[in-house]
Amino acid sequence: MPEGHTVHRTANEFNRLFAGKRIWVDSPQGRFLGASVRVSGQVLVEASAIGKQLFLHFENNLWVRIHLGIYGKWQWHTGIEESGFLDQPTKGEVRARFYSTDALCELRGPTVCEVITTNDVQAIHDRLGPDPLNPDPTGEELERFVARVQRSSQSIAALLMDQSVISGVGNVYRAELLFRACLDPYAPGKTLPRDVVVALWEDAVALLRVGVKHGVMITRDELFESDPEKAERNFVYKREGEGCRVCGKKVSIALLAGRKLYWCPGCQK
Ligand SMILES: [Zn+2]
Repeated sequence: MPEGHTVHRTANEFNRLFAGKRIWVDSPQGRFLGASVRVSGQVLVEASAIGKQLFLHFENNLWVRIHLGIYGKWQWHTGIEESGFLDQPTKGEVRARFYSTDALCELRGPTVCEVITTNDVQAIHDRLGPDPLNPDPTGEELERFVARVQRSSQSIAALLMDQSVISGVGNVYRAELLFRACLDPYAPGKTLPRDVVVALWEDAVALLRVGVKHGVMITRDELFESDPEKAERNFVYKREGEGCRVCGKKVSIALLAGRKLYWCPGCQK
């Protein structure tokens, strides 16, 4: 399951190739055909993301919302005019295609692909927790996170996986953020002091940005600028039974709300 940084990378790619351009949208498979005509031929104003959801904003003030779910995938093609790409039959079940004269991307197997209004987008934004990767010039998003954590008696480990508290954090970032903060995963949100919650948010901003830059989830500062092996990228995630990289105690594992939680009982008290 992708965490939020991958969806922001897709938004960046849409902006790089299509923002400010007229693009066409269709649905070779047919399921998105009726909706696609409402945005096809419009200029793409901007692509953005909140957590795992991607939003494409068109000049006629309609939006396409996409959630890949477990099976959804993007495939990009460039130089489509020279290769005559559009004249060739599509492969597999392509729910939607977005294309300009040069570039095209195909979407297969998403959980959601729909056309919605600006009011709908606002309602989704308000319902979801803030996304650390989105700009927050007024600090409003940080305050939403702090308020949602501090009013809850649920554990901080459960809260970090709740998309109504924070968007875009999944199981890897959850474990690593708590380790980096030396936080007991079972501490209830309402017991955490404000400065601890603020620092957790700021660390999420930093780690997710590294994820967007590299396309992989690196959570050890000394490796931010390198291309580490998968087993080396993290402090505790999937390292149960191995020695903690800081204190040497064995990394623990438990099930919390159906997902595996990894932490170091030595560092996280
Ligand atoms: Zn430790």
